Parts: sequence; C-alpha cells; structure tokens
Amino acid sequence: MKKATALLICLCFSISAAAQTMPPDADPKFWAQALKIHRKAIIIDGHNDITGPMMDMDFNLADDSTGRLQSGGDPMHTDIARWKKGGMTGQFMSIYVSGNTLRTGGSMRRAMELIDVTNREIERHADLVKCTTAAEIRQAKKQNKICLLMGIEGGYAIENSLYVLRNFYRLGIRYMTLTHNVTHDWADAHNDEKRNNGLSEFGKEVVREMNRLGILVDISHVSEKVMHDVLDITKAPLIASHSGARGVANHTRNVPDDVLKRLPQNGGVIMVVFYPAFLDERTAKEQSERSARLRDQLAALREQHKDDNAAFYAARDKLYAENPIYIADYKRIVDHIDHIKRVAGIEHVGLGSDYDGVPFLNPPMKGVEDLPLVTYEMLRRGYTEKEILMVLGGNMLRAMEQSERLARGTRVSADGSLVKFKK
Ligand SMILES: [Zn+2]
Repeated sequence: MKKATALLICLCFSISAAAQTMPPDADPKFWAQALKIHRKAIIIDGHNDITGPMMDMDFNLADDSTGRLQSGGDPMHTDIARWKKGGMTGQFMSIYVSGNTLRTGGSMRRAMELIDVTNREIERHADLVKCTTAAEIRQAKKQNKICLLMGIEGGYAIENSLYVLRNFYRLGIRYMTLTHNVTHDWADAHNDEKRNNGLSEFGKEVVREMNRLGILVDISHVSEKVMHDVLDITKAPLIASHSGARGVANHTRNVPDDVLKRLPQNGGVIMVVFYPAFLDERTAKEQSERSARLRDQLAALREQHKDDNAAFYAARDKLYAENPIYIADYKRIVDHIDHIKRVAGIEHVGLGSDYDGVPFLNPPMKGVEDLPLVTYEMLRRGYTEKEILMVLGGNMLRAMEQSERLARGTRVSADGSLVKFKK
C-alpha cells in the first residue's frame, strides 16, 4: 500500500514536471528547488485576460488551451490544468473594458458581462473558488483550489458614478486600473492627451472611495502624474497589476524610479508584466518597425483570407517568422524584479503576467504553466526562498490585508453617514 502510494506520488510528480518547459541550460538542483517552491507557495498573479475568450469564444476553463488561438489571433496561455502546473493560487481575472466604449457606450455593461462569465466558470468547476480577501486565498491554498479574483481594467467602467463603484465592490471587484490606453473624464492615460493634469477632483474622490471600500488602486496604464496624484491621496497600498520598471526599459507602461522610491512609504506592489515589448526597448522598436514595414503585406493577406481566419493567422505567423524581431528570454523578467528590488525593496515586487493579453512571451515561456521559470531565475541569482515567496504572492497578500484593514475601519457609521478620511 505504502509502496503503491509512493509510486503514485512519484508518477504524479514526474508527469507535472515533464509538462513544464525547463530552462534550456537548467541546473537540475535549482530547477527541482523551483518546482518545490511552487508546490508550497501562495502564488498570486495580478493580471490575466482569459476573460476575453471566456466571453467572446465561450471558452471553458476546463478545456485544453495549449496551441489554440484567441478569436483575435493571439495564442492562448491559460486553462485550469495549466494553472495547476504553474502552482497558481490566486489569479486576478481582468475585467477589461475597451476604451472604444467611451465612444460607443456600454462600458458598465461590458464589465458586468465579464463579471458574470467569471462567476459562471467558478460555479461550474470544483477546482475554482471565488475569493475576495487575503484570508480566502490562504484558505483556498489549504483546500488545493485555485482562487479567481477580479479587477476592472479601465476606470470609465464606473461611468462616472460612485454608486456603480460601490456595486462593483459588492460583486467582488478588488482592484481597478484607473485608465486603459485612453484618457477619460477623470484620469489621464500613459499614452494619451493629458487633459486632467493627472487626476481630476472627481478622480481623487474615486481614489478615496476605493480606499474606503477596499478596492486597490491600479496604476498600470496611467500617466506618471496620475501615479504621483494617487500616491499623494491613497491611504492604502497601490498596485501596478501588470507593469515593468522604466529604469530597465523606458516604456510609458512601466513605472519610473521616482514612483518606485515612494513605495516603501505607501506599501505598494509593482506586479511585473511578462510582455517582451514592455520589458525591452529593442523589442518594442523592432516590433513597431516590423508592423510598419509589413503593413501592406498583412492587409493583402487579410484580403486574400477574408473568410478564413485560421488561414490568415497561419499566413501572418509565417510572414512574422520570415521577419523575426529580437525577443529576450524569460530572464529579462527577473531584470525588472531585480531593479524594483534595488530601488523600492523586495517587499514591493510581485507578478502580473498579462497572460492571454499579449501576442508573444519571452521564450521558452508558453503560458501560465511556465511560472517556475521566473522562480528558477530568481534562485539562480541568489534570491532566498523567503524573498521568492514574497514576490510570488506574499507581498500582494500583505497589500490586500492592509487595504482590508483600512476599509474595515471606514465603513458606514451607525447614523448612516460615510466615515470620511481626514485630508
Ligand atoms: Zn493592460
């Protein structure tokens, strides 16, 4: 009996280990240690866009997504089995609302639909559980379940209403990215016109109400001035749910050093994105040059295959393969972790992959099952297990707990009035 159990454990272990991508030059000692840490750790990822395919393709999280494409042609990175292989404990699902809804309307409805599709997937899969607090994430780890949490991407989803914001909290939203790639009525985006000089007065009110409720403020996608405005106002830690460090790659989607330096006081966590074009300036440059160079050819291929998406994507990928760009390997992610650790401190780094929201990853990474590559590289660079556990999820748990404590102290008072923060 004992022998059979041991054999079974051994088989399980070898199956799960074999299914992951090992570093090409792996030191077996570090690799075994990385996998061991992943079984033990509470792992939280700040940003995953699989909600798009769940909504638009009716994708079932129990199905195998390996090798499949989203309806827009990008590769899929996530499903339940892949989460399990990577050791995921708490996955923030992106309730992403396109900036186009500022013209077309329907921002709030899109958010409501994605919240519903996320809840329905949780209801039909026993491996998944809905979480809204740090305590629930810890509990799920004990029960060997994967927590799904939710964050809104695009603050215009509240349609300028604190009433709507409060209802989003009640539905389980625990962070909100104040913008996407578009400036709106109360906050400026990283790459768009600076209409509000950061946050407008109402934008500041939104941040205070998020603090009061217990919704973390997410500074990915906002302008540098908004980052500082948030730091001036917020009493809770902020997060960047999927950004890198501008000190390593000078991209407006990344967080500059002067913001990193304010994190020890704020308690915030920068969850490092895995998108090669944000992580490396050379990739961003070569990617945009290639897009411009191949624009006419891509348009011709689109026309040629206008009724056959699969044929178009195959032809597009062949064209890209014939016109390769520089993409650094997975170690580049840890360059950003290193930098944030150096400037802000290890307490302020986390993971925010953006899986299923990006067209390519740092090789040999293929999807959420390959998170141990990042842990392996941290081990190789001499990070202690304690530091790695902080990056993988410990820091985000701590930030959530701080936000929850603050919110508990500022609920509606007995006479029905809202307890306000002192300015
Ligand atoms: Zn994003």
